[in-house]
Amino acid sequence: MTTTATPYGQDHFGFATEQVHAGEIVGGDFGARITPIYLTAGFVFGSFDHARARFAGDDGGLVYTRYGNPTNAAVEARLTALEHGVDSLLVSSGQAAITVALLGILKAGDHFLSAPSLYEGSKTLFRENFARFGIEVEFVDDPHDIDDWRRRVRPNTRAVYGETIPNPKNDLIDIGQIADFAREAGLPFVIDSTASTPYLIRPLDHGASIVVHSASKFLSGHGASLAGVVTDGGTFDWAAYPDKFPQFSTPLGGAGTPTLVEKFGATAYLEYTRTIIAGRLGPVLSPLHAFLLQQGLETLSLRVGQHSRNALAVAHWLEAQPEVSSVDYPGLPSNPSHAIALKYYPRGTGSVFGFTLRGGIDDARTLIDSLELFSRMSHLGDVRSLVLHPGTTSHAHLTEEERVRLGIHPGLVRLSVGIEDEDDLLADLAGAFAAVRATRPVRATADVAAVFAEAELPLSA
Ligand SMILES: *Cc1c(COP(=O)(O)O)cnc(C)c1O
Repeated sequence: MTTTATPYGQDHFGFATEQVHAGEIVGGDFGARITPIYLTAGFVFGSFDHARARFAGDDGGLVYTRYGNPTNAAVEARLTALEHGVDSLLVSSGQAAITVALLGILKAGDHFLSAPSLYEGSKTLFRENFARFGIEVEFVDDPHDIDDWRRRVRPNTRAVYGETIPNPKNDLIDIGQIADFAREAGLPFVIDSTASTPYLIRPLDHGASIVVHSASKFLSGHGASLAGVVTDGGTFDWAAYPDKFPQFSTPLGGAGTPTLVEKFGATAYLEYTRTIIAGRLGPVLSPLHAFLLQQGLETLSLRVGQHSRNALAVAHWLEAQPEVSSVDYPGLPSNPSHAIALKYYPRGTGSVFGFTLRGGIDDARTLIDSLELFSRMSHLGDVRSLVLHPGTTSHAHLTEEERVRLGIHPGLVRLSVGIEDEDDLLADLAGAFAAVRATRPVRATADVAAVFAEAELPLSA
């Protein structure tokens, strides 16, 4: 069997070449061109001594799919190449990726800092589940104020966390600035790049330490399965902080034996997270689903390019509608994150964003129920266009005050713009806006009533 090597003297092929070829397994017993799906729980040992060597890790071979599988390894190698990392770990979902990535660093009694705008599922995971493990999250108020981060560092702070393109508000963080702070503070910077993918940004190139993704979204694109990935940049110096991160600097087999860092060097963190965290907690990705993810990855640049072009066109169109009070898309020059978008996202800022209707929840309901091409769904990064009302779904568990603070107004609608033809998407939106306008006469009567009520005048004298 062969895997594709880069040309002599080159670290990397181009993005599109790597998304098709990096890590691929060609050949096998039958000369298969496509990486085979190794659906097997375990791997045969040739002899008594072979089994012993495998368990000791002496020949680097495979033991059991919870610890490693050739199909998963091929896809991990592809993701490592695309992210400019040193190693990757596939797990069963994005939530599993975030969990194991942080549990590879944090233990009970530790504290970590996070940007305030995050995927709501991550926030509840941190606030509720991690709290039960004795791990405390603290959100900064203003992620652009580095003093706000610095002020909150405590003796037990162990990590910094953020997202590339938070949804639905798309309030971008300055990754390089936060990475500089994290490095100064001696903390690994973990970043969720689900909404951007390595095609739009490689956070490791901007100083992040570890990247996580929900691979269920853009990386797969087909929306047929869940997956998650953790990619290690291999740059964080774990051995420099033996008291903060003892798991990497403790001799593995007692005094005189090597530590994880001595044994694995730049991949020590990923090795620990793969074997000790994910290998024991068990959120393994089925090789069948690793294969489905690989199929999606092969067209990533084509899809994300089209997603971003469509999203920009939709955002411009929405901004011109009188019913719309704001569009949260950083590709628009009017958007507060536009400068960061120009600095970090030259290829576009993806396709998951919100916009707010002046008419509030009533207009949102009419609009969402009138769309035909957009599927009403809790998912994103799919080739199909999707729509959701965050206030009554993903953010419904918050109080009204919390929602307002996050900018989740009753009229906020979230889109995940797909790769369909731009004209068809705009036509679908135009039809739904026409339906909203058609409700106006009814609303006008209600508004007159409100004016009379406010002035304390009887409606019918
Ligand atoms: C969807 C999503 C997750 C969770 O991923 P799953 O694959 O659904 O577990 C995490 N982070 C972000 C930004 C997401 O969009």
